[in-house]
Amino acid sequence: MRFSALLFSLAMVASAGCSGDKAPDAQPAATPAKEAAVSDRRHDESSFAQPDKVRIADLALDLALDFDQKQLAGTATYQLEWLDPKASQLVLDTRNLTIQKVEGEADGAWSPLQFVLADADPVFGSKLTIESPQRNARVRITYHTAPTASGLQWLEPAMTEGKQLPFMFSQSQAIHARSWVPLQDTPSVRFTYSAHVTSRPDVMVLMSADNDPAAPRDGDYTFKMPQPIPSYLLAIAAGDLVFKPISGRSGVWAEPAMVDRAVKEFEDTEQMIATTEQLYGPYRWERYDMLVLPPSFPFGGMENPRLSFITPTVITGDKSLVSLIAHELAHSWSGNLVTNASWKDIWLNEGFTTYVQGRITEALYGVEMADMERQIDQSGLKKDLAGMDQAQQALALPPLAEHDPDEALSEVAYVKGAWFLQFLEQRFGREVFDPFLRAWFDDHAFQSADTDQFVEYLKQNLLPKNPNALRPEELDAWLNQPGIPAFATPAKSRTFSNVDTARIAWRGSAQLPNPQITGDWGTQAWVHFLEGMGETLRPEQLAQLDAAYKFTGTPNGEIAMRWYPLALRSGYLEARPAAGEFIERVGRRKLVMPIYQELVKTPDGLAFAREVFERARPGYHPITTASVEALLAKAGAAASAAAPAPAVVEAPAQPQQPEQPAQPEQP
Ligand SMILES: [Zn+2]
Repeated sequence: MRFSALLFSLAMVASAGCSGDKAPDAQPAATPAKEAAVSDRRHDESSFAQPDKVRIADLALDLALDFDQKQLAGTATYQLEWLDPKASQLVLDTRNLTIQKVEGEADGAWSPLQFVLADADPVFGSKLTIESPQRNARVRITYHTAPTASGLQWLEPAMTEGKQLPFMFSQSQAIHARSWVPLQDTPSVRFTYSAHVTSRPDVMVLMSADNDPAAPRDGDYTFKMPQPIPSYLLAIAAGDLVFKPISGRSGVWAEPAMVDRAVKEFEDTEQMIATTEQLYGPYRWERYDMLVLPPSFPFGGMENPRLSFITPTVITGDKSLVSLIAHELAHSWSGNLVTNASWKDIWLNEGFTTYVQGRITEALYGVEMADMERQIDQSGLKKDLAGMDQAQQALALPPLAEHDPDEALSEVAYVKGAWFLQFLEQRFGREVFDPFLRAWFDDHAFQSADTDQFVEYLKQNLLPKNPNALRPEELDAWLNQPGIPAFATPAKSRTFSNVDTARIAWRGSAQLPNPQITGDWGTQAWVHFLEGMGETLRPEQLAQLDAAYKFTGTPNGEIAMRWYPLALRSGYLEARPAAGEFIERVGRRKLVMPIYQELVKTPDGLAFAREVFERARPGYHPITTASVEALLAKAGAAASAAAPAPAVVEAPAQPQQPEQPAQPEQP
């Protein structure tokens, strides 16, 4: 996925706060961490499940999707593999679900099983304990979701492109799958699945499964996912969706008004698949399709297998942001095929994926494009590290205990992870490192892995090729120490050197760079141009840039998220109405938060931010809503504390609020 640490955790606490329907015989809230018996690296503190005793091998869903009730209702049937001969309980993760009935099958007949749904923990949801004294091979649960399920978003027709039909989509990573299906919601368990889903007949339903491009839209859909997946890759979407192919095995699902633009923007996808296959072995998931979501999708993308979920904000008309497609596709190897065993090792998913993304970008668009993106990523990481707790700066994170696993998701996993692999590539050479990485994917295909396993694999399969290439303390610096090792080589783009020269010359002389120079600049160069401007510019400087480059009103979100904060900070209020329109229309958290963060710094800006948010809120995903709410609440509290006190005694100066960390993004 392309996501945030601090704000995200606040978001989750807020969105998971409702405890929902309670079972008649509720138990006190339990947290998985309190119950953990094992403390090895593979142990997943974010799940109640006990996969060493019994595992879900296959899941069969039979669900009715109801837009009016904002509900999924029906049954989940599990094929179980009992591992511990003494075990007689199946423990599942749930959040905000109503469990109506649990049955077990024995000798072809279904009979009721006893179960207990514990009170909800605000982060992990409710532990569901099912008594299965006969160790049933099949168990069936009848349940329904809550309208506030943290993993589902329901959109009114007005919030879609076409404005005719409603839309819904899931976001299961990290631990939201449990809000729409009772599961062993841990990346260390994989299962195959099938589904029968009914809906109103005028919407198309898709899942992270074998979507048939020719399926009739009739309100009755069946799906099969023959490759075993972890729970966070379970996905569903429904809306006015049509399909257009890109190649024999790849295409785009989108609303009718969007599909042609998306196909054009993503037309290199087949070439991306072929390139990645050449480097890292066959694509093992049959089709690779992309689903373009409404602008409220809170992230850049989500690597749901066979059907990546994609934000429409990367469709700019010039393919300048398609590295997001390279990223989601790369997850078909790193993450979906070889999966982090627990969320504290998320760098194994995201660092590997960001590295592979860079290799795909390089192969299709050249080394300079890949270097520009790496340089932007690395400078973003350095800014984030400045405000980050030391322990969170290691790739191999300490046990997450009672923390929301979404806190593990920072730019460290993505950018430092990828940087580490680039470092290994430089030390060993591509002729050695590429086959090593391919073998890692082959040898762990459809399995989960932890950092210790990777280190062991590296010692056995990479180090012997050149024992002097890597010292143990260097490995330790990357994996276990904070910051970026001093011996790491930063990415350096040639284009950016020219951009720096042009910016410096303009600031000195007020002469804009020659259009022949800027004519070649793509999104990345403009991003770098703006990022180097420092804290503020004078209003006349901003007006000059705006007249020449039309930044205000830009449809390009990467430019908007940098231009508007600079303009607002500098008091260039001409840009404010357009900034407001942008954050009202787009709900991708990474793009809107820097603008809100700038707005709330003045009383007038805070009032404006509140107004815009009220209008935007119905179209925002709960994740973005919670982040904005937390920011507005904090800014409101700081503003009233700073208001002049009537007392004669002077109030002590307010300590400066630390800058909110940038919003890292996953899927
Ligand atoms: Zn990702």
